[in-house]
Amino acid sequence: MSEGRKPKNPATHIGNHKLDPATMMMGYGFDPSLSEGSLKPPVFHTSTFVFEKAADGKHFFEGITGKRPGGTDGLVYARFNNPNQEILEDRLALWEDAEEALVFSSGMTAISILLLTFARPGDVIVMSGPLYAATETIIMKILSQFGIGHVDFPAGATREEIDAALAKAKDMADEKGGKVSMIYLESPGNPTNALVDVEAVHAARSAAFDEASRPPIAIDNTFLGPLWAKPQNQGADISVYSLTKYAGGHSDLVAGGLTGKKALLDKVRPMRNTLGGICDANTAWMLLRSLETLELRMSRAGENAEKVCAFLRDHPKVDRVGYLGFLEEGSRQKDIYDRHCLGAGSTFSLYLKGGEAEAFRFLDALKIAKLAVSLGGTETLASAPAAMTHLSVPDERRAALDISDSLVRISIGVEKAEDLIADFANALDAV
Ligand SMILES: *Cc1c(COP(=O)(O)O)cnc(C)c1O
Repeated sequence: MSEGRKPKNPATHIGNHKLDPATMMMGYGFDPSLSEGSLKPPVFHTSTFVFEKAADGKHFFEGITGKRPGGTDGLVYARFNNPNQEILEDRLALWEDAEEALVFSSGMTAISILLLTFARPGDVIVMSGPLYAATETIIMKILSQFGIGHVDFPAGATREEIDAALAKAKDMADEKGGKVSMIYLESPGNPTNALVDVEAVHAARSAAFDEASRPPIAIDNTFLGPLWAKPQNQGADISVYSLTKYAGGHSDLVAGGLTGKKALLDKVRPMRNTLGGICDANTAWMLLRSLETLELRMSRAGENAEKVCAFLRDHPKVDRVGYLGFLEEGSRQKDIYDRHCLGAGSTFSLYLKGGEAEAFRFLDALKIAKLAVSLGGTETLASAPAAMTHLSVPDERRAALDISDSLVRISIGVEKAEDLIADFANALDAV
């Protein structure tokens, strides 16, 4: 077989000094000598790749089809792989020191393909609640049609509550003749900002299952990852990302990702190869650019959020601010925060005094912050969950999740904090 054009081994250390991901985003996984000396990776706009020899094609396909474990070691066809996506996966994995990453055409593609890989008819998925609405739709409305059950526990659950959910799921799986195939978490919950105790989930799983039957723990880390939370350090096996949000960071693309254990992601890759849903070359290229400034953007957004929340907290028209930097000393949530989080993020809940009219007057008066759903971009966004993202949630559940009509959801960007404070002060005057 002819030698594949493999990138040179990238530097991860200088002597014993380990390089930080922020540094490695500028070059890791790309060898300019394979692309005419181009400093930056070109966008590889091609649907297929030329094999040097027929034997190479056979060898690569053995990797694609799983005849040889561990994936392919050559470029084959752009539904399976492309250079931009491969560089992106190498770099994305670095942020959580993960063995492997996979990237997808959207966050929802990543989540669907992950769940389809592990859940079979008769199985049960254990989930924290609330999850991103479309994720709940997949589990509760779509997978349920294929005989896959679910058991949920609230995001802030104690070890005892998690134990009880696992026991219930095991009973349900026994009854259905299946297994508990996944523990799927999201932290913090949206818009409650309740954090999941991943360490407690990990310990509960060890207690409830022997090694052979242990379901993987996946966690949607879109809101705090990869800078402010690294849940694989607390026992999660797979981190799930909507790369559309902080990782993409400019509100100009849609993509998703998984990072985690190679043995698990090696099972997901063939499902992506078959169903489709890989991240295309152009989007992957844009994400490579985004990741170069990920730390700068997230750090600035986090500092801005701290200043803005300090201003909002004491304002007479504000009832309260649901921000991870304001958790009560000695509370269970503060304890989870201290064990799991490296920063409070830049997405939070602002509860105004009053109801929908007050929230709408506030939103309509904003001049810098844009009135839009989504989060994690360079620009500040604000929306009203009760009237928008969570409009379809039944009243009872909405009340349980504290989604009141006066709730405004805010994602702070990288503008000057003083300008944002002036914008919010002005809008509060208009309430
Ligand atoms: C946006 C989002 C998703 C879905 O991602 P898409 O890229 O829109 O498909 C999943 N989870 C969370 C927490 C999100 O915010």
